[in-house]
Amino acid sequence: MPTFKKIATILNPPAPHMVGDGFRVHNFFPSGYKIKMDPFYLLDYNAKIEFSPTNKLRGVGVHPHRGFETVTIAYQGAVAHHDSAGNSGVIYSGDVQWMTAASGILHKEYHEEEYSKKGGPFQMVQLWVNLPAKDKMTTPKYQALANKDIAKFNLPEGNGVIEVIAGEYNGVRGSASTFTPIEMYNLRLNTGAKIIISSPAHYNTALIVVEGSIKVNGTAQATTNQLVHFEHEGLEIKIEAEKNSIVLFLSGEPINEPIAQYGPFLMNKPEELQQAIEDYNTGKFGYLEE
Ligand code: MN
Repeated sequence: MPTFKKIATILNPPAPHMVGDGFRVHNFFPSGYKIKMDPFYLLDYNAKIEFSPTNKLRGVGVHPHRGFETVTIAYQGAVAHHDSAGNSGVIYSGDVQWMTAASGILHKEYHEEEYSKKGGPFQMVQLWVNLPAKDKMTTPKYQALANKDIAKFNLPEGNGVIEVIAGEYNGVRGSASTFTPIEMYNLRLNTGAKIIISSPAHYNTALIVVEGSIKVNGTAQATTNQLVHFEHEGLEIKIEAEKNSIVLFLSGEPINEPIAQYGPFLMNKPEELQQAIEDYNTGKFGYLEE
């Protein structure tokens, strides 16, 4: 009989900080907590907050990235995005944007105009997903996953739905293509729903309760804004929804390569960071209007 994946710890969100003037994020890692989540390098969690109506667009201005991917998951509110490769779009509630910065991109992220004018609840996750050394300098690309296009597994008896962003759940293949094996699901569970998720023992695994309250492996309770981190022991996770809940599940095979990070650059060696800074300063990341 498969064994439950052992819970390492249940974490409250660390103190928040502002990213630009549009994102109030709790950095669960790498700053907030030193938990091993390779290939996930960073997790900024914008817990639900209310923004007042405004005509000024809040957000983050033009900045570069190299060596990894940013994944933005919108739960409430809407974010408009532009990058130096000419891509743009709006990430609405339920959508996911998977941006492969790889060899280098400039982008900016602002609250969408209509949302800004109305104001209201705002809740987002941004992840940095590392790339293996061999893929760090590949061509940037962009996967805009509207909610309607994200693969779904419908739970029996109207118990909810599992949105398979990446990986595979019960034969449903995820919508995003990834460079290394990653499982990323949004679990939208109705009260009383019970599910089992299987993931290899050597993957780094965590979940965040975005909304609601769940029981994990029959014993531990996790509620809104808490992160549950698992050990490399056991294969299955049992989740029971104590109320209507939304849970982000993350699991990935570790890349296990050296890391050199400086600001928005995530490479393997210090000299590659130097190169990134030089390339950025000499316009090699392209151009994007503020
Ligand atoms: Mn960015």
